[in-house]
Amino acid sequence: MKKDRLSLFLIIFLILSIGLTGCNYEVAEVAHIEKDFKDKLVVHFIDVGQGDSTFIQFPNGESSLIDGGTRKSGDKVVNYLKDLDIGKIDYLIATHPHEDHIGGLPEVIRNFNIGKVYMPDKTANTAIFEELLKEIKNKDLKITLAEGGNSIIDDEKFQFTILAPNRDDYIETNDFSIVTKIEYIDASFILTGDAEKSSELDMINKNYNLKSNVIKIGHHGGRTSSSQEFLKKVDPDYSIISVGADNTYGHPHKETLDRLNKLDSNIIRTDELGDIVIVSNGKETTISEKIITETETKVQYIGNKNTKVFHTKDCNSLPKEENRIFFNSLEEAKENGYKPHKNCIK
Ligand SMILES: [Zn+2]
Ligand SMILES: [Zn+2]
Repeated sequence: MKKDRLSLFLIIFLILSIGLTGCNYEVAEVAHIEKDFKDKLVVHFIDVGQGDSTFIQFPNGESSLIDGGTRKSGDKVVNYLKDLDIGKIDYLIATHPHEDHIGGLPEVIRNFNIGKVYMPDKTANTAIFEELLKEIKNKDLKITLAEGGNSIIDDEKFQFTILAPNRDDYIETNDFSIVTKIEYIDASFILTGDAEKSSELDMINKNYNLKSNVIKIGHHGGRTSSSQEFLKKVDPDYSIISVGADNTYGHPHKETLDRLNKLDSNIIRTDELGDIVIVSNGKETTISEKIITETETKVQYIGNKNTKVFHTKDCNSLPKEENRIFFNSLEEAKENGYKPHKNCIK
């Protein structure tokens, strides 16, 4: 159902694009068309392999980069931003001092004008952290320490807010992650860095409004993040997992995927789809067409949530829309306890 609504918005957008650009049927690069549009919120989950890098273009023309992937992916992030004709990054956020988040940031700082820099009150004795501090100093930038409840942008139409960290005594470095939320009329995104259970619990206890249409899942889908209580509060339509293919950590963990499936959230992964771009005008939120087609063609089997029987997607006795659950493979369906329908699966 969610997917149908999304496709509809995409079709509307396609018609609009054709109208505006003459005969441009290419919508795979939504963001590149959209970049000239005013009043749009564009969120790019840049594929940096096993790491995180999210770039946000706000409706007022300002921008923010949250993390820059590993050192190896610094060039990729720089080129991605240059392709978007970005001159200045207004808000640079280093969620926490792990290499898969800050590794690419020194290269980014060397290449762009930077406005404010946000970091948590947490240091690391690593070469990459020292290098980051050096580049910040070289550019005469100051570090603003991030704390839950602080506001980065409080515009009439949209807000960019810090929800974590809420303490300075976490045991795990990941729990110091800066968590941010973007709200633009009806659209909302929560970006959780590598925050784990302790930080999630603190955000719940602070009574922050966590409900969001889109979540960037914490710690690449690791099982010690994304607790059921936290996910329930967020209740996301779309869950983005930034993760490298065949990574040594086994991310995303099955437990996390199970919790998301329980919530019926659409899981979208950078290891499967590459860069992910989501655009919102504050009312409708669309994902670039490439993502939708690939997600839909990936669905091979459709299960019935009531009978726990699954079918091929062209079977003529498919369950009602509201009872459907989608699987990408026979194994996935079976692992979830579904039995094959005798008529369509031999
Ligand atoms: Zn981390
Ligand atoms: Zn990480």
